[in-house]
Amino acid sequence: MEVRRQIEVSGIVQGVGFRPYVYRLATGRHLKGTIRNTPAGVTIEIQGPAETVQDFVEHLPAEAPPLARITCLAVHDVPCNGDQEFRIVDSHEGEEVRTLISPDVAVCADCLAEMFDLNDRRYRYPFINCTNCGPRFTIIRDIPYDRPSTSMAVFPMCPACLAEYENPLDRRFHAQPNACWECGPRAELWDKSGRKLECRDPIAEAALLLQSGLVVALKGLGGFHLAVDATNPAAVALLRQRKHRVEKPFAVMVPDLQVAEEVCELDGPARTILQSMQRPIVLLKKKPSIISDQVAPFNRYLGIFLPYTPLHYLLLAEGGFKALVMTSGNLSEEPIAIDNREAVNRLDGLADHFLVHNRDILLRCDDSVVRVAGGIARQLRRSRGFVPVPVFLKDNQPSVLAVGGELKNTICLTKDKNAFLSQHIGDLENVESYGFFHEAVEHLERILEIRPEIIAYDLHPNYFSTKWALQQTGVKLVGVQHHHAHIASCMAENHLEGRVIGFALDGTGYGTDGHIWGGEVLIAGYKDFERAAHFEYVPLPGGEAAIREPWRMAVSYLAHHFRPEFLKSELLKFDIPFVRQLNQAKVDLLLRMIEQSVNSPLTSSCGRLFDAVSALVGIRQQVNYEAQAAIELEMAISESEDETGYPLELLPNGPGWIIGTRPLFVSLLNDLGNNLPAAAISRRFHNGLVEGFVQLATLLCNQTTLRRVCLSGGTFHNLYLSQRLETRLSDVGFEVFVQKEVPSGDGGLSLGQALVAAATMQP
Ligand code: ZN
Ligand code: ZN
Ligand code: FE
Repeated sequence: MEVRRQIEVSGIVQGVGFRPYVYRLATGRHLKGTIRNTPAGVTIEIQGPAETVQDFVEHLPAEAPPLARITCLAVHDVPCNGDQEFRIVDSHEGEEVRTLISPDVAVCADCLAEMFDLNDRRYRYPFINCTNCGPRFTIIRDIPYDRPSTSMAVFPMCPACLAEYENPLDRRFHAQPNACWECGPRAELWDKSGRKLECRDPIAEAALLLQSGLVVALKGLGGFHLAVDATNPAAVALLRQRKHRVEKPFAVMVPDLQVAEEVCELDGPARTILQSMQRPIVLLKKKPSIISDQVAPFNRYLGIFLPYTPLHYLLLAEGGFKALVMTSGNLSEEPIAIDNREAVNRLDGLADHFLVHNRDILLRCDDSVVRVAGGIARQLRRSRGFVPVPVFLKDNQPSVLAVGGELKNTICLTKDKNAFLSQHIGDLENVESYGFFHEAVEHLERILEIRPEIIAYDLHPNYFSTKWALQQTGVKLVGVQHHHAHIASCMAENHLEGRVIGFALDGTGYGTDGHIWGGEVLIAGYKDFERAAHFEYVPLPGGEAAIREPWRMAVSYLAHHFRPEFLKSELLKFDIPFVRQLNQAKVDLLLRMIEQSVNSPLTSSCGRLFDAVSALVGIRQQVNYEAQAAIELEMAISESEDETGYPLELLPNGPGWIIGTRPLFVSLLNDLGNNLPAAAISRRFHNGLVEGFVQLATLLCNQTTLRRVCLSGGTFHNLYLSQRLETRLSDVGFEVFVQKEVPSGDGGLSLGQALVAAATMQP
């Protein structure tokens, strides 16, 4: 008996080879019917013997093409008709075809095999791609996603490419960036002033330059990289010096999994993530290897990734490189350069040569960074490979634009059940990043066709994103507290509703009392929150300067807890190495500032507590990059069985609690006085925080009966703290939720802002 079923598939199913895939799946089973693109995705009608149709439906999601992402599959019975075959049909006239856009992904195995095949017409072609791989997001100018609205528009396809493009059974059917030697983009080698160098093989030439220790700027998928040979210490040092990047770790591209195993400790999940088509940078434990120590000094981890463009593969193979430093083509925190001429100007003095090409990058997109915990990748920077795949939400949302925070900015647009986070935009205090912020808002609204009714922003009056939001008219503006947004972000990606206990731990966030928050425990839902507990306030002497110079925080804490004995020069009588090395004049000045409340805002920041401890134990008095003191404190943790933890005290504060740090410092100073090494002290500090938090969560659970705990904020990038706290909370019966899909740091803030703002619209 024949049946006919209509299957509506939504998600990322256009421009990813979905229709040819369904065509093969249907014709292989001798089924009849049609498939067409629709605004939500595709609609399939499938007709044939009931059993075969059932088999088709079951296989449909399982074998979908690699880039497809099915979010919903609805099957209905419909009456049979006279179809004699299976056909790919045009979308209905006038029906607006709108669908999710795929991210840029790594070159696939089929394309790689062709590229290294002497007999293939694309032998060594650095821009080979197909429906399953290559650029997407970064070459789109507008929708619908068709060749004329991409930066491939200027390359008319040759007859051979066009034949592939038009053949539903070809791997390149409707692959918009399809190209070959005949018709597509080409690579060129330029000197530092942007003059084209005549050479037969620019990639081979660039490999020679890298081998000789020079810095080469490479145009990739989402922007330029600056590359040097990672096994050559002099080359790495040269890059650091030119980039004014003192100690911040560089990421390293290794040719294959085998080399990855030689330089880092890999487990199953790490191997999978490294090889995934998103090809993020993965932070992994370093092994002693041929990679220069200059690459990631004072760090137990190394960020490594595998090649992801055909050009990377050619370059690594050509030079026989074991590892290339590949860092964003920019000066310190500026956005990554994307245009050839822009790169020559902006990377002037940084790069010796430029390996460029003439396929324009329309939207910059940095490499994504993840780390692996409990077998699962957790985003530290969600960008290339992931954007613009939405975070799928539990419920429909109004159209909101959330503009994020100040540092590691991302924006978020919501529509229906999708939250589209932008790529990493960067630190907005930087003029160039601010321009990129505008571009991203404009571009995402256009390609996603979202006209926001609401704009959500951080409460900090001086954030550029906030100032921008407050200038917008004709929309509802909703200010969202920073730590509330962190917890809402965690709730959103975990599809939670109702209220939770939220630990929002980070460096800086503007509080509703005007102080700088950062060690916050909230009882929160999307709509509102109560501040159930926070770290006790201490002065942040010098404001921003205290963030750059952790010794200031150490002095602030000592003065706060042990005054009056240690005030002013008295502090110097405290006999620990930290105090002995202090500059008396500087300390006096600092203490005067604190005493007179000059430029010394109060903070409950968890990040600053880490800074103080890092300085006290002698790890880091000044930082060269954000969170360096805290990161190095984590790296210092001894691998021992020591379960000791420095105690915190919970002091009643109205209906909530203050997390007092005095006992912590008493014990820590005691250990310092007894010459306990920094490694042991760091461990005890971390352990103590975890025990204090578990105790606090238990208290709050007794008060509220809530058993779900959300962990968010940049402090949870600390793996030791995060994993230990998750384990301990679960052990005592809490349900623990963390951030995986979006960063727990400020890169994930916009998601939470959007959900909070949307909730305020509900009655
Ligand atoms: Zn491919
Ligand atoms: Zn061609
Ligand atoms: Fe934050």
